[in-house]
Amino acid sequence: MYISKAFIPILKNNPTEAKIKSHKLMLRVGMIKQSSAGIYSWLPLGFKVMKKIEKIVREEQNKIGAQEILMPTIQSSEIWKESGRYDDYGDEMLRIKDRQNREMLYGPTNEELITDIFRSNIKSYKSLPQLLYHIQWKFRDELRPRFGIMRCREFYMKDAYSFDINDEEALYSYNKFFLSYLRTFKRLNLTAIPMAADTGPIGGNLSHEFIILAETGESKIFTDKRIFDVSYDNANLEKKSLDDLRKKYEIFYAVTDEKFNKEEFEKKVSAENRLTTKGIEVGHIFYFGDKYSKPLNASVDLPGGKKDYVKMGSYGVGVSRLVGAIIEAKYNENEEIMKWPLSVTPYELAIIPMITKNDTSNLEKAQKIYKFLESKKIDTIVDDTDENFSSKMKKFNLIGVPYQIIIGKKSEGDLFEFKEIGKESQNLSIDQISELINKQKEKI
Ligand code: ATP
Ligand code: MG
Repeated sequence: MYISKAFIPILKNNPTEAKIKSHKLMLRVGMIKQSSAGIYSWLPLGFKVMKKIEKIVREEQNKIGAQEILMPTIQSSEIWKESGRYDDYGDEMLRIKDRQNREMLYGPTNEELITDIFRSNIKSYKSLPQLLYHIQWKFRDELRPRFGIMRCREFYMKDAYSFDINDEEALYSYNKFFLSYLRTFKRLNLTAIPMAADTGPIGGNLSHEFIILAETGESKIFTDKRIFDVSYDNANLEKKSLDDLRKKYEIFYAVTDEKFNKEEFEKKVSAENRLTTKGIEVGHIFYFGDKYSKPLNASVDLPGGKKDYVKMGSYGVGVSRLVGAIIEAKYNENEEIMKWPLSVTPYELAIIPMITKNDTSNLEKAQKIYKFLESKKIDTIVDDTDENFSSKMKKFNLIGVPYQIIIGKKSEGDLFEFKEIGKESQNLSIDQISELINKQKEKI
C-alpha cells in the first residue's frame, strides 16, 4: 500500500474529547470514527487490527475443538421471557418492535438463543460435549459509554457456549477455554491474568475474568505478584493436565473488587507480594450449570434412560475492546511511540524513503523493494509523500508499524537501513530483512 492512496486520516494533534491513551491514539491515526454516542465505524487501520485479533481468537477456539456458528444480532423477546431475563436485563437491552408489533431486541449476549438452538437439535448424551462459538456484534445500552471502543454500546465479541452431561465434564470444558484464553492473549503479546470474579447478571457459581494491567483500566484488582510467573507451557488438553493448570493459578490470590476481602488478602499474601492496581477486562468465562437449560427445558437422555438438564458454561472475549487494550499496554504516550505486536499490526513493515522534489531516486528504490517484499507475503506500506523526513518518522511512530526500512543517507548499495521501532538500526540486505520478519511471523 502507498500511503498517498491509503485511507489513514491522521490528525496533527491529540483530539481533546479523548481521555485515555488508546482512545486518543485511535482517533489521532484514524482507526475509528464515532457515528453516535458509543457507536463507531472502523476505518482501514483499526479494522485490519481487529480482524487480525479475530483470526487469532478463532484459531485458538478451533484448537480446543469448538465449532464456529453465526447467530443473528436481532433476537426475539420470547426466549428471554422463558429464561426470565427479559425484565431483569433492564435498560441495557436495546428493545425494538418490528412492523407486526413483535418485541425484538439487539442481542447483548446469546445464552438464550444458543440454548434454543441446542434444545431443538441435541437429544442424547452421545452428542456431548458440544462447544459452539460465534463472533458477532453485541449491543448494550451502557449508561455511560466512554473511552472510545473500550466501553461502547455496539461492540464485537467472541462468545462461546459449552454443553455437557454432568458437572465433571462441564468443568473439563471450562478448563479447555481457560487454556485457550491463556494461549490467545499470549499470541496477542499480552499478559492476561485469570482472576476469580463475580458472575453478575450472567449468573452461576464459577467464573474467571482475564485482566491485563493498565492504570486506565476500570477493574480494580488485588493480587499476589507471583501469579505473573505461572507458566502454562506444559499444559495439554488432557483432563488432568488442565485441572493442574487451573490449580497452578488458583493457589495465588487474584481477585477483582467484587470479590475482594481485605482480611483474606492480608492473610494469604505476604506484604512484599501484594499488588493492588487496575486492569482491563478482556475476557470472562462462567460456569452456570442448568441456570438456562432448566427454564428453557434443554435436556438430554442419559445412559440409564433418565433425562437431565444439560450443564452449560459461557465464554466471552472482547475482540473490539482488545484493540484498545493492546494500545493501553504498548503505547508510550510521552514519546508518542506505538509499537504493535507483529501478530496484529496493521502493516508489518514501513518503507520510508527520503524524497525531495528534485530527487526521487529513493522512491524508485522503495517501489522496487516493495514489490519484492509483497512477493514474500510481508504486508508493507510505503511512504511515497514528499513530507519532510522528521514528520514522516513522527507519523510512523504513531501508526506503530513495528519494522521500518529507511532509504536515505545510511542505506548503501544493496544494504538498507533497517529498524525495529524502539531499537538501534542496522544495515541489512533485502533478503535478510524478509527472512528476519518471516521468522518472527512463524513464532506467532
Ligand atoms: P464489563 O464488566 O467490562 O462491563 P461484562 O462483565 O459486562 O463487562 P461480559 O458479559 O463478561 O462483560 O462480556 C465479555 C467481554 O466483552 C468482556 O470481557 C469485555 O472484554 C467485552 N465487553 C463487555 N462490555 C463491553 C462494552 N461495553 N464495550 C466493549 N467491550 C465490552
Ligand atoms: Mg465480565
